[in-house]
Amino acid sequence: MKSIYLFDVDGTLTPAKGNINIEFAKELHNWMNNKQVYIVSGGSFPRIVNQLGREIVDQTRGVFACMGNAFYKKIKDKDGYSSWNLEYENKFSIQKPALFFSELERYVMNSEYHTKTGRHYEERVGMVNFSIVGRNATKKQRKEYEEYDKVHQERKGIVTKLSKKHPTLDFVIGGAVSIDIFNKGNDKSQVIDRFLKDVWQDYRILFVGDRVEYPGNDYSLAKLLDEHENGKTFGVETWQDTQQLLKTKLFASS
Ligand SMILES: [Mg+2]
Repeated sequence: MKSIYLFDVDGTLTPAKGNINIEFAKELHNWMNNKQVYIVSGGSFPRIVNQLGREIVDQTRGVFACMGNAFYKKIKDKDGYSSWNLEYENKFSIQKPALFFSELERYVMNSEYHTKTGRHYEERVGMVNFSIVGRNATKKQRKEYEEYDKVHQERKGIVTKLSKKHPTLDFVIGGAVSIDIFNKGNDKSQVIDRFLKDVWQDYRILFVGDRVEYPGNDYSLAKLLDEHENGKTFGVETWQDTQQLLKTKLFASS
């Protein structure tokens, strides 16, 4: 049976928000030869290209960006170059957006965390990205919040409260400091429902991600795959784990 490989980016192929290691990029590029690979990331398409480099992105069959809310398909040109076509894009929708965003602001105000840098939420394709520390945070400030959150589990608490209040939305812990918010079903699992549903029977689908436990942003896809006989999820903690994984037999078949 042939395989289709799906990879998360942040924390799986790269450090969170960082670029791919140069050595690993070479290994990955070689490994991808003759394999069907797709990227499934919370980031936007330009950011993914920045992080992985054009050569790796061009070796994939497609990129599911913004949690699968936008799908870019590769078109092979006659002259050997590839171009990318946006196949679909979802919109985030909520009935009273102003009320909802002021509710998020209140979480920022009421948080006991000491550093709040501004730009706490950002609307992206099909989703909202929310963080207590704010998008203006420096690398160091992000790291500090990450450590704080590990101890205090602040994000988990916020996700639990918001989920209860907004049953039509899903809230997941994404990246190192933020919470991703989207309309129910518009999470990473939509990759299967929208695109790969018909190929399950003939292909094994393997997924590698670093947030596969609830309420991580890989959880919905991981769960869906693990419930299917042809699906399998691999949880990693760092891109180095992925680097090792690619050397195993499980990842040898095309
Ligand atoms: Mg990740």
